[in-house]
Amino acid sequence: MSKAIVSSLYDSDVFRMACRQFDKAADAISLPEAIRDRTKYPRRCLAVSLPVKRRDGSVTVFEGYRVQHNLSTGPSKGGIRFHQHVTLGEVAALAMWMSWKTSLVGLPYGGAKGGVIVNPSELTESELEHLSRRYMQEMVNFVGPHVDVPAPDVGTNEKIMAWMMDTYSNHVGHVASAVVTGKPIALGGSQGRREATGAGVAYLTKKYLEDLKLPVNKATAVIQGFGNVGSETALALSNYGAKIIAISDYTGAVYNPKGIDLNKALTYVRYQKTLHDFDGGEPISNDALLELKCTVLAPCALERVITDKNAAKLKCRVLAEGANGPTTNAADKIIEERGDIELIPDVLCNSGGVIVSYFEWLQNLSNYYWGRDEVLQKLFGMLDKAKDAVDAQKRKFKFSRRLAALTLGIQRVADAKQSRGLFP
Ligand code: NAD
Repeated sequence: MSKAIVSSLYDSDVFRMACRQFDKAADAISLPEAIRDRTKYPRRCLAVSLPVKRRDGSVTVFEGYRVQHNLSTGPSKGGIRFHQHVTLGEVAALAMWMSWKTSLVGLPYGGAKGGVIVNPSELTESELEHLSRRYMQEMVNFVGPHVDVPAPDVGTNEKIMAWMMDTYSNHVGHVASAVVTGKPIALGGSQGRREATGAGVAYLTKKYLEDLKLPVNKATAVIQGFGNVGSETALALSNYGAKIIAISDYTGAVYNPKGIDLNKALTYVRYQKTLHDFDGGEPISNDALLELKCTVLAPCALERVITDKNAAKLKCRVLAEGANGPTTNAADKIIEERGDIELIPDVLCNSGGVIVSYFEWLQNLSNYYWGRDEVLQKLFGMLDKAKDAVDAQKRKFKFSRRLAALTLGIQRVADAKQSRGLFP
């Protein structure tokens, strides 16, 4: 018997949601009690204060976190989020999902996540650089190519990864490209990394549409979030022939039943920063967007947007979770009971990002670089394998697809911990 004595450190809606998913999966595979809590709870976390000198000469102290959930299966891996509503509990939940994801797709990694409470759009470029460097400076003894390897997430990008890689390299005294992934190509970034998550979401969506005998070139798609994952998912689905009928960001959504002109939208966002007042369709709310009739709905923004309030009203055939944790436990139950929606769970659906991050890390460690076609071919091969494994588990145990994916991910982490034993 093992029993966790757990504080309220991570307590939050999203951490409880990740814990409930774990408990359900652990029950489904009868995970022994002795290994449960060790597998479930984050291994360690670091909270830091980050003073940044502002343009007007004042100093603002930002709060940042890094949570390493599992280090038993390799260095931990996971993005860093810059968002005004980040909490330690959210970062812990995201770190937990990273553990199941890396394990599910067979990467030699554990799971981690980082976050800073900040709205990056309110900082000047120089303030953002200082904040990013300060964060990495505080993390120097906590991360590393063989310890924990960060990457971009919401609100962070290649440029921020470059500043972080530079800061770490200056501290250790040599070029340490493998300390972060999602870097610019000039610093050892991988071909195909920028589009990897969205390309993977679109690839898996196409595969599931094929299973349903629905031609992708007749499909309509609705995408929530038009950042890295949402825009690349939209582009890749559109390249497969799907019609993107709605897109959105935090300012609102745009609906056009004839199809959104994606290049126009991308150019608009490049200059205006958001989709606000984009004239490529009718403005609607993000809530209305989720309930549009479409073949594919891809939430690619934040957690907990599909809830018990709207799950019964979804009118999609495939729900492709580009974001992490977009569907609450209650919504999951409703979707399962409805039975008419193919759900591609986050840990499978958006795993293309961490797979190509793994390729980037491998290329950095070996100093041997691959071409884009090679990267994408290897990515799709790994996604095919993960999809087959999840669907076989689903069939064998009559699980939902989420439960199938989570049980596979959790079992491997638990097996690794069991085999390593407990350090006295
Ligand atoms: P991003 O910062 O590039 O884009 C986020 C987008 O979501 C922006 O367009 C933003 O305006 C929009 N958004 C924010 N709040 C919103 C709201 N309330 N309603 C509608 N839109 C909203 O971030 P990203 O890297 O594209 O990440 C998006 C999601 O994908 C996150 O859940 C992230 O954890 C997940 N993810 C990212 C990667 C990656 O490689 N970047 C990999 C796997 C999973």
